[in-house]
Amino acid sequence: MSGLEAVIGLEVHVQLATRTKLFCGDPAEFGSEPNTRVCPVCLGLPGALPVVNRAAVELAVRAALGLNCRVHETSIFARKNYFYPDLPKGYQITQHEHPLATGGWLEPEIDAGERRVRIRRVHLEEDAGRSSHDRIAGRTAVDLNRAGVPLIEIVTEPDLRSPEEARGFLTHLKRTLMYMGVSDCDMEKGSLRVDANLSVRPAGEGRLGTRTEVKNLNSFGNVERALGFEADRQRALIAGGGVVARETLLWDADAAEARTMRARGEDDDYRYFPEPDLPPLVLPPDLVDAARAALPEMPAARARRFREVLGLPAYDASVLTSSRDLADYFEATAAAAGDPKAASNWIMTDVLSWLNERDAPGGHFPVSPEALAELIAVVGEGALSRGMGRRVLDRMAETGRPAREIVEAEGLTQVSDSVRLGRWVEEVIAAHPDQARRFREGEEKLMGFFIGQVMQKSGGRADPRKLADVLRERL
Ligand code: ADP
Ligand code: MG
Repeated sequence: MSGLEAVIGLEVHVQLATRTKLFCGDPAEFGSEPNTRVCPVCLGLPGALPVVNRAAVELAVRAALGLNCRVHETSIFARKNYFYPDLPKGYQITQHEHPLATGGWLEPEIDAGERRVRIRRVHLEEDAGRSSHDRIAGRTAVDLNRAGVPLIEIVTEPDLRSPEEARGFLTHLKRTLMYMGVSDCDMEKGSLRVDANLSVRPAGEGRLGTRTEVKNLNSFGNVERALGFEADRQRALIAGGGVVARETLLWDADAAEARTMRARGEDDDYRYFPEPDLPPLVLPPDLVDAARAALPEMPAARARRFREVLGLPAYDASVLTSSRDLADYFEATAAAAGDPKAASNWIMTDVLSWLNERDAPGGHFPVSPEALAELIAVVGEGALSRGMGRRVLDRMAETGRPAREIVEAEGLTQVSDSVRLGRWVEEVIAAHPDQARRFREGEEKLMGFFIGQVMQKSGGRADPRKLADVLRERL
């Protein structure tokens, strides 16, 4: 039934990039031997008292400001009580009725246009440990290194209308958080986790339908697929006269289906109450000032500037702002070359494919912006063909030598001199008398064949524009 629109809201957990945990001094690093990064506080031993990590608060405030939220001077930590083996205290310290920040928004570029997605709240909380069901055969192993690691939870209003939009929003959110340096957002390490809520309702209806929540989504692709599955399932259910039950589902990526994890009543009873061991979190003004000062130009604003001030096409601007490093690299190259569009062309094609070929799409490119700008100048002067330029760039990346040096040392200079071009042309015509005759009889498309042959003979150095003239002359 296409008359039913999907309504989606997301809850995103993001690990803050601090050195230590939220309430104790244990390292918050990933990948240590299980249960070696723990102390009485994160183990929940009796009498141990939590102390708030200032760096975590600063990053959370920075994130909230970057998501255009109102940051509250006072927020309150609360205990969320539930029983689970990876939760040593029997409760998680989070924020409930008085979160750190509320009322924000983000404007991802969805379908070329920009749409405002409201952020309901951003709050601070600690992570739980990790249960592993395949580490020890027949048993569940618990690693508490992650217990107490600082997270923010970002909750959107139900403003998204399709699985594709949800994915577009997440891509933009991740980009924004990474620009701010608040998290590495690495989903494989669990630094970014998404729970997705979806309901359907007749198009035009103002009230919300009953939603389900899908968990266990380990990539944005899986978020999109799981929401697609769930939208189809709810539509079919309603079309068949059924009603949607309020439940929590687990996405099974291999089976490509969402299965019931638990039914939910009106609300789980977590028996929230204010954390008695922590005073209300009152933000010092200098902390908020520092967080504000650390905000970079955001990706959407930067993309807009690339379009409007530097004159780049929308597509280029979007690709070049996909990470802050790439955007910085582009800007430095554009400035050194004095030509933003040329810099964009080289980076969008040559630099990005160099990185992709090495499976390092977000990696470091070993040629400096100034060195790339010199190469752009050498090609611009006509001393080197564009095609050879790519080869020279590869050599620059390999050897660290500048463009002019490589061009001279390896004899790659573009040949525009008609005497030398003429010699190659004569040789090629002599070797292919049949094609030459057909060309003279009017088979124009053979021009491409001759250009290709001379290019090969010249090792790619023939100036293609001059070459076409010489070929016409001699043929
Ligand atoms: P809870 O406190 O149970 O997690 P919330 O009301 O805070 O529930 O909502 C959690 C998320 O679910 C939010 O992102 C919100 O936008 C989304 N959401 C709430 N109701 C609906 C609904 N009927 N359909 C789709 N998403 C919803
Ligand atoms: Mg929730």
